[in-house]
Amino acid sequence: MEFVNPEGLRLDGRRPMEMRQLRAEIGAVARADGSAVFEMGNTKVIAAVYGPREVQNKSQQSNDQALVRCEYTMANFSTGDRKRKPKGDRRSTEISLVIRQTMEACILTHLMPRSQIDIYVQVLQADGGTRSACINAATLALADAGIPMRDLVTSCSAGYLNSTPLLDLNYLEDSAGGADVTVGFLPKLDRVTLLQMDAKLPVDIVENVMQLAIEGCKAIATYIREVLLENTKQLEYRRGL
Ligand code: UDP
Repeated sequence: MEFVNPEGLRLDGRRPMEMRQLRAEIGAVARADGSAVFEMGNTKVIAAVYGPREVQNKSQQSNDQALVRCEYTMANFSTGDRKRKPKGDRRSTEISLVIRQTMEACILTHLMPRSQIDIYVQVLQADGGTRSACINAATLALADAGIPMRDLVTSCSAGYLNSTPLLDLNYLEDSAGGADVTVGFLPKLDRVTLLQMDAKLPVDIVENVMQLAIEGCKAIATYIREVLLENTKQLEYRRGL
């Protein structure tokens, strides 16, 4: 199958280095301490953050840092008939762990000892790159909750199909069997905090594809900063400041 046509366009009309349309909305869950919806093209996820709050299971309490918990689920309607189990399967458990570790790397947990932060992320519509979209949504939700962070962690994937590096794979591209590199990036600190790869990739290409994913993360960070700034302006406006 051809993933980039002779005009240099992908199946959804994007250029190889082009990201899908981003859209974010802060404060989607009124009862949560922080929440956000994040869309990357047709992939749409929601994140809700609760905390810092009292640790529910005291045996897990730490006197040095906050306990961070994360649950990734897929809504029953998120993938049509392709979806297997909404939660509790190996994939969801692995993605929950990956997101938790990524968010832990940016939360200043030592400032909130003996407390717990719960991050719930749910996929509303899946079209590839759901773990990245969830990390981006979780970052916004944590910022909305006022959780102190050392940086705004963002995530994006890049792949390699028909000898062409492609930014931000959709489901069709993701399921083509080529390599898929997902990166979590701390833009201010210039540090990679998550790196996952499916399938095989020639060694000399790995860095190229990873760099492309990093560029994607940087673009998302710029967008997220704009969204947060706009949100702050609106809050100030409503408070009459
Ligand atoms: N997918 C699906 N059903 C499932 C799991 C995944 O349809 O039970 C699709 C969904 O579109 C997802 C894509 O496969 O985004 C790629 O899944 P992967 O495990 O690579 O994680 P992701 O790219 O979403 O982080």
